[in-house]
Amino acid sequence: MARYEGTCPECKKTLYACTKGAVCVCDCWQHCPVCGAEMTPYTPDLAMNSYGLGECRDLTVLMVCMHHSPIFFSSKRPVEVVCT
Ligand SMILES: [Zn+2]
Ligand SMILES: [Zn+2]
Repeated sequence: MARYEGTCPECKKTLYACTKGAVCVCDCWQHCPVCGAEMTPYTPDLAMNSYGLGECRDLTVLMVCMHHSPIFFSSKRPVEVVCT
């Protein structure tokens, strides 16, 4: 069976697909770059905690890691890898 692969530019992980040109989404963006734990999707509820940080609040934040104080905000996005 044919197997096509692509490498994630973010984490260098190799992703596999059985169709040439298939697009895989690497899940590394869901993991905290600091501690490696799975992060929590950013919701407006969490914004409560970030009031007071003022300009540090970034609207591009998608995920947060609750293991840090203050909370770690990640602006990582899903990485699409084309398998060839
Ligand atoms: Zn990755
Ligand atoms: Zn973390």
